[in-house]
Amino acid sequence: MAGKQSLVVIFPFPLQGHIKPLLCLAELLCHAGFHVTFVNTHHNHKRLANPEALSTHFPTLHFESISDGLPDDHPRALNGELLIALKTSIRPHFRELLETISIKAESNDAPAPPLNCIITDGLVTFAFDLAEELEIPVLSYNVPCARYLWTCLCLPDLIEQGQLPFPDDDMSVEITGVSGMDGPLHRQDLPSFCRVKQANHPALQFAINWTQAQRRASALILDTVYELDASCLSHMALMFPKIYTLGPLHALLNAQIGNVSKSLASHGGLWKSDPNCMTWLDSQPSRSVIYVSFGTLVNLTRAQMIEFWYGLVNSGHPFMWVIRSDIIYGAHQIPAELEIGTKERGYIVDWVSQEEVLAHKAVGGFLTHSGWNSTLESIVAGLPMICWPNLGDHYIISRTVSQKWKIGLQLNEICDRCNIETMIQTLMGPKREEIQSSIDTISKLARDSVVKGGSSHNNLEQLIEYIRSLQH
Ligand code: UDP
Repeated sequence: MAGKQSLVVIFPFPLQGHIKPLLCLAELLCHAGFHVTFVNTHHNHKRLANPEALSTHFPTLHFESISDGLPDDHPRALNGELLIALKTSIRPHFRELLETISIKAESNDAPAPPLNCIITDGLVTFAFDLAEELEIPVLSYNVPCARYLWTCLCLPDLIEQGQLPFPDDDMSVEITGVSGMDGPLHRQDLPSFCRVKQANHPALQFAINWTQAQRRASALILDTVYELDASCLSHMALMFPKIYTLGPLHALLNAQIGNVSKSLASHGGLWKSDPNCMTWLDSQPSRSVIYVSFGTLVNLTRAQMIEFWYGLVNSGHPFMWVIRSDIIYGAHQIPAELEIGTKERGYIVDWVSQEEVLAHKAVGGFLTHSGWNSTLESIVAGLPMICWPNLGDHYIISRTVSQKWKIGLQLNEICDRCNIETMIQTLMGPKREEIQSSIDTISKLARDSVVKGGSSHNNLEQLIEYIRSLQH
């Protein structure tokens, strides 16, 4: 790519589900000729698979890490302590880094390229303050799905109209005033923090502040396919003059670089993948396995875990279940009466390379918490879903997957073994053909968007031009 070199600083919110897509974006920008400085916390940087080797492989990529001020053994979940650490420790360190960035990005005695812009994770709102103070253009990358972002942008209106907080506990009541949702939205589709009793509750206020702060970015980058979210994006466009939809980002990266196993994002896991799970999958019949993962943040109670366990074993289908070491507090144990069924049909694992698992021909369905990354990965793989939403954008994603796109089924919130068993049997049996046909259509649309002429492909080219134009 011709033209002057330029530097982009990328700053993810310090959690796995945020680091991986931003590594995809970093790699796409390196591929387009930019120098990229990717900023992690020390804690996450140490957990990345071989960052030094990555820097050698990607000579225009430079990793920086800063302290989050938390003790080494802190769980670092999405909670108040992490948010406080952002303000008290990460913010001043990030500022310091920005002030010296040009010196730090110098390599092999070559002068550092000028800093064009910061691409911040939308949740890191202090980056907007720093960018304004230091007069650096800032773009915002939002990990949650576009429909969630738009719904949160409408929260002040819902409060003003008296729809929020909910006056009673009936979750089936329709919410009016969030346009562009392709059909009615109900209280149960809104994030769980909307179930608070007071409008000034910190969780609700946090969501309002975070989303309103996005207006300070000079452009929004979203991991979605324009055609999938067109109606909601047309409303957002009235608020944000520049929106670049680049999704599914991992598929866009695959389309650009060809070999995903060598990609930067494939090394971006904070947990180690199980090396034997693909061999187990190889031994299973085609489309027979239900893959189960609740992402990186969801916690289960012991009782919920037992219900899932019964539902999975009793469904009679082979299953691969990712049980993260921190998914429940304390140790988990296979219920004695399920040991034989688990041994015969199950494969329990700490962490897998999910994109590879979803693409395996033995996998026939995905029982998911409806995280946005997982949903996009399932769409690209053409894999029908059972959704068990849990927090944040999961509810609205689950609604869209099951009711609008009709590419999955939604489990109700009460986790019940009979219900889980029936859902799995329905997805893998009578509903299979109908849902498969819908997801094949959506999957094609997503895959078409990332190749030449597709909307995400075009938007990436426009984003690159836009970032170049910021050079001073
Ligand atoms: N993931 C993975 N291996 C696993 C479980 C999850 O690589 O065993 C990845 C998955 O591919 C996805 C991310 O973790 O990219 C989870 O992101 P998502 O937005 O679905 O959920 P969240 O991080 O919000 O829980």
